[in-house]
Amino acid sequence: MSEYILDKQYFVNVIKDLIKLAEDRKEYFTELDSAIGDGDHGMNLSIGFREVEKNLDEWQKENINGFYKKVGTALLDKVGGSSGPLYGSFFMKFGLPVKTKGPDEGVTFDEFVEMMETGVKIIEKRGKSTTGEKTMLDTLRPAQDALRAAYEAGDSPKEAMAKAVEAGKEGLESTRNIVATKGRAMRLGERAIGHLDPGAASSAEMLEIFYKNMPDA
Ligand code: ADP
Ligand code: MG
Repeated sequence: MSEYILDKQYFVNVIKDLIKLAEDRKEYFTELDSAIGDGDHGMNLSIGFREVEKNLDEWQKENINGFYKKVGTALLDKVGGSSGPLYGSFFMKFGLPVKTKGPDEGVTFDEFVEMMETGVKIIEKRGKSTTGEKTMLDTLRPAQDALRAAYEAGDSPKEAMAKAVEAGKEGLESTRNIVATKGRAMRLGERAIGHLDPGAASSAEMLEIFYKNMPDA
């Protein structure tokens, strides 16, 4: 059996789909943020990923780390609010475990699991946050933990990622019952109960894009 590889095109396709997601779901993310934040989450993602789209062809010449660093920098530079710096940092660090790869080299699934861990960890660090605080981490941390557990238990890469997506969705759903202790929704206290966290929602849809683009074997 040949080794499972996620090639460079996979990582480019994911970004292309994220650009599309930011446009297609702009109103939905804004609606969620209007309920418990300041109603700009959709706009923030849209501004950031439009900037990414402008330079995509040029950036594709880099290796995976270089490419994602450019994506992350664009989000950091162009997006105000909390989500820009947090998602920006995620993409800035995502490729770090594979920084020595050549421009046309892909990564093993083992490396992919490390990349995800690196990305989620930087959000935890920058956000000074953890699960149970009604943020994107309520999606991302359980997803990452499920990804690693499933992979280590011998699931195929795509099966492992499917479990990650599922765990992320459960995490997202859990944000309905959480009083926020981070981000703008904190100010609402109990009134945030019943509402999904917008960042947890966008994270869940992003993970699904990472999943859908993965080859079966
Ligand atoms: P802002 O809150 O500045 O208006 P956005 O509306 O774009 O920025 O993003 C809000 C989302 O950012 C929240 O729904 C939450 O998921 C996430 N978020 C905010 N603060 C933190 C934090 N400290 N750690 C992790 N995620 C956070
Ligand atoms: Mg907002």
